[in-house]
Amino acid sequence: MKRAKRASLTVLTAALGLSALGAVKKTRTSEVGAIHSIAASREQSAAGSVGRALLLPELRDDERERAAVRRRLRRSEQGTYIGEILRLRDSSLARWPDRADRPLTVWVQPDPGIEDWSPLYIERVREAFAEWDAVNLPVGFVFVEDSVHAEIHVSWIDHFNEPISGRTKWARDDEWLITDANIILAVHHHQGEVLDDEAMKAMALHEIGHLLGLDHTQDSSNIMAPKVRVRDLSAADRATVRLLYSLPPGPVR
Ligand SMILES: [Zn+2]
Repeated sequence: MKRAKRASLTVLTAALGLSALGAVKKTRTSEVGAIHSIAASREQSAAGSVGRALLLPELRDDERERAAVRRRLRRSEQGTYIGEILRLRDSSLARWPDRADRPLTVWVQPDPGIEDWSPLYIERVREAFAEWDAVNLPVGFVFVEDSVHAEIHVSWIDHFNEPISGRTKWARDDEWLITDANIILAVHHHQGEVLDDEAMKAMALHEIGHLLGLDHTQDSSNIMAPKVRVRDLSAADRATVRLLYSLPPGPVR
């Protein structure tokens, strides 16, 4: 954990330097859907090469840290799909800060008044959060009634106008730490049929994976396949998120 702390400090230093030059935006938003994903780093090039001379010592430190992370990835990536995530996310990792002592606050929208919506959905969503919680990451979840101050919002929509059943948006800061997230789950599939509560749980598992910082894998035996085919987390889902939370966030190239 010592190394992770040092790394994020380094990133912070570089980010502060660039912010002072007005070249970096404070937060970015990422949006991922059930069968598609938009890279988080699309605004990343904003920093350009401004102030490179000024930042050179920090950049050298940064490059050393990145090389160390790449070595750790090579040692630990077996049994995970972290390589696929890095390819989808332009070789960058984003995640929540370590918060073992202060769980992330989750608000789940009560009865939205949508036709065919079932109160069982809320139970299944809570079970999905509990399953990820059981992976024992340095972040956990607690449900709150107060939507205003919650860090994570789960709400319902009748259906999406595209062939997806769930969507997650999250924002990160300049240290690549996720700061808040919103999940929207559809009561009906794109074509109109109602999602049963087990399918809703699987969708929630998938979207929570996104909010934790995971992205898609082409292996459909995992919950993070673009089209969700399984109902539970796989060994690879767990191993991948554990690996993600053992690394400092940010670019690794
Ligand atoms: Zn997805």
